[in-house]
This record gives sequence, structure tokens and C-alpha cells, in this order.
Amino acid sequence: MSRYSKQRIFLGREADALLRTKRVAVVGLGALGSVIAPWLARAGVGRLTLIDRDLVERSNLQRQLLYTEDDLGQPKADVAVARLARANPEVELRALVADLTSGNARELLSGFDLICDGTDNFEARFLINDVAILTGTPWIYAGAIGAEGVVWPICLPRTPCLRCLIEEPPAFGDVDTCDTAGVLGPAVGVIASWAALEALKILTGKEPGRELVRFNLWDDERQFLHPPKTRCRYCTGRITEFLDARWTMKASELCGLEGVQIRVNPPGRLDLAALQPRLEARSDRPWKRTAMTLTGQEGEWDITVFRDGRALIHGAATPERARSWYTEVVGC
Ligand SMILES: [Zn+2]
Repeated sequence: MSRYSKQRIFLGREADALLRTKRVAVVGLGALGSVIAPWLARAGVGRLTLIDRDLVERSNLQRQLLYTEDDLGQPKADVAVARLARANPEVELRALVADLTSGNARELLSGFDLICDGTDNFEARFLINDVAILTGTPWIYAGAIGAEGVVWPICLPRTPCLRCLIEEPPAFGDVDTCDTAGVLGPAVGVIASWAALEALKILTGKEPGRELVRFNLWDDERQFLHPPKTRCRYCTGRITEFLDARWTMKASELCGLEGVQIRVNPPGRLDLAALQPRLEARSDRPWKRTAMTLTGQEGEWDITVFRDGRALIHGAATPERARSWYTEVVGC
């Protein structure tokens, strides 16, 4: 019996063989990507590119199935590729330890038949959407928090795009993150598996689900929402504002000092009073708040968050680590 014999019985010889010819990118290798990527590798897509900026941390292990204690401190993309190569050596696997930005998204995400969203932030999703607007690459929007989540396959120009649904990303600080709402492992697993299933449909030439599916798996709720009927001016006019850096989170190393500065554009208005208890809970020590700033320590970092969304991190931090921290704590 061959590796794919059971899948071939279900899909048919032709559709199964089609998978070997496909190139897929999974952006984000957290809880979602940890489930999406193995399904696609085991199903035998031709080439699988795994993109993530983060290192494995202990708090990931509760839900990110690709990693173990042995991997702490290693780049997720590298660990994922090593693990999946053992699950299916026939797949051409590629790790990209990279942070998706307006400057590199187009280059990193070109040349794929499908892009799977395993990210935890809207900045990355709107960048993926822009690439899809330009290139017509299908992508699957997926998101999960708490025990809730959404999945929506987007195949331009046949379907609406993410901006037809949500015109603007929520402001920095306005969305729940794993830090504020927590996250339940099996719930993310269901959502990620749903996304992987839609991926297999697209890759084998079957029409994916048209509706946006939304689960609240703890309260046993499921909704299938019709996609928006009107199309936005961005996908109809091929306007790519996020690739053009109208909306960004930039992290740059501090000149002459060890540390990183984060800037958001457009500037936000963070609710520092709401942010304070979250930061104190993470770092297990008090933070100091003024009208314009919130200052404290987390691990080896000295951090100042400004009301306009800026943040200064002093200590041994790379721009990638700083952006991850900001996304986790502040959101978006
Ligand atoms: Zn649109």
C-alpha cells in the first residue's frame, strides 16, 4: 500500500495526483499553523513553505502541536520543517524565519497556488489579502481566540476579499488576543482542521465553501454566514494599501542602544488603564502609568508603551521578537 492509498480512494487518482503539483505557503506556525501544516504535508502537497518569525516558548506547548520541550528557543519554522520532513519526506519543505511586512510580503508570498493564514494578527492578514488582490492567489482566512474562530476561503476574483468583509483592520489595542481572552487548544484544532479541509478542496480543484463559518465551540454554536454581496473598491480597483505601507507596525533597532522601537501607523490611542493589569499579570510585577506612558519590566526587558501606540523595548530584543510581543499584548 502506498502512502496516499486511503486518500486516493476518497479523492480519486487524478485529484490526489494534483496535490503533488501544488505549492502552498502557511503563514504563522502557532496553534493554527501547527495543525494546518501537518495535514498538508501528510496529504502530500508538492512544496510546502512554512513562514514564522517566532521562537518556541513554553506557553506555546499547551496548544501548538508541532513543538515539544526539546524545541524551546528554536525558530518555529525550522522545528516545523524538521518534524514534517520525518512525517513525509516526499514533500519539498522550506522554512522561512521571517516577519511578514509591507516591504517583503509580495516577494515572500509570490509563486504559490494557495496561502493559508495561520497568523494571529490583522496586519499579516491584510498583507496576505493585498498579495491576493495583486496575484489572484487563493487564500484561506482563519482566526481563533478563546474557543471561537472563523474560516473563510477567499478566491479572487470569483469571491469577495477580506476587505469586502472588514474594510479596515481593528485599531491597535481594540482586539482580543491570546493574552486577553486566552485560547483553548482543541478549539483551535477544529478551526485549523476546517481550514486544512478547505485547502484540500481548493488544491484538488473542488469548489471551496462559499460561506464564512464561525464557531463558538465551548457554547456549541455554529454559524454559516453569507459573504458580502457588494465588492469593495480595493479588490475591484486592485488597490493594495497595506503593501503600500499605509497601515503598519514597524520595529527598528535603537541606534547605539540595545533595544527596539515599535511605531504604528496610523498612530493609535491605546487605553493604558486597560493595558496595565494585563502587563502586570504577564510580568508578575507592578507597572507605572502616567497620562501618556506605561512603564515596566517583563523578563529582561525594560518597556515603555506610549498612548499613541509606540513602544520602546530596552534589552536584548530583535525587531521580530518585539513585534511578536506587541501583537500578543496590544493586539492587531
Ligand atoms: Zn474586496
